[in-house]
Amino acid sequence: MLTKFPIAFILFYAWHMMGITIGYHRLLSHRSFKCPKLVEYFWILAGYLAFEGSPIWWATMHRAHHRHTDQPLDPHSPRYGWMNAYAGWIFHTQYPAHINPIDQAKDLTDDPIYQFLEQDGKWEKAFTLALIIGVNFRILLLLFFGRTIALASLAAAIIVQQVPVLLNLVCHLPKLGYKNYETADDSVNVWWVALLTGGEGWHNNHHAFPGSARSGFRPFELDPSWLMIRLMKSSGLVSWMHEESPSPNTKKAPASLFENLTTTA
Ligand SMILES: [Zn+2]
Ligand SMILES: [Zn+2]
Repeated sequence: MLTKFPIAFILFYAWHMMGITIGYHRLLSHRSFKCPKLVEYFWILAGYLAFEGSPIWWATMHRAHHRHTDQPLDPHSPRYGWMNAYAGWIFHTQYPAHINPIDQAKDLTDDPIYQFLEQDGKWEKAFTLALIIGVNFRILLLLFFGRTIALASLAAAIIVQQVPVLLNLVCHLPKLGYKNYETADDSVNVWWVALLTGGEGWHNNHHAFPGSARSGFRPFELDPSWLMIRLMKSSGLVSWMHEESPSPNTKKAPASLFENLTTTA
């Protein structure tokens, strides 16, 4: 138990986290790379089993966040309330009037599996289904691999579930990070969020170049999710990826992570 639990926890954490960063975010929401459907489902399953909800819902809401970043129609900008930015927006029961997957996520609504997980756009039903499938997955782990593996998987999934909602808040609070690019929104790069999310904390970079499969641009901006996409590309599992890594356009960008640590502390 003592050594098996942490090893299993780290492996499940990495799989579930990348299910969100690579699957839900960089693939479904932004189409920043192309891969066979089987590879797509592998990552989406990893995100879904972390109680992340319907993939159509996630991608549609995230695209709306990019369309209206830190403006009144943004579903979760901290400018309009921290609690709503963190989790309040999830407790609605249906899409707001200006957000509609049929128009804004046409590329996903044709997939019968995603359609089933979407439950006709009824948020409560979709989350209940995700909860039932997530719990049953751990029961299977319990039956086939024992209590330690099942608990490690459950603990990793619950923690991973919290990380993207934390990112929505923290990475849009300018005091907590730095900008490489003068975007019109409040997005900032936050090193410890990047550490927890496998590279998603370089959020100002991401808002400046949302279509890029790579989010960490500077030498110290470690981006494990991009390294994984690159690994899949070199092994033939990814056929195409869009990659950007331009120089910062703001003089306020720190020269190194250590400078950032001292200026934001
Ligand atoms: Zn954002
Ligand atoms: Zn995004």
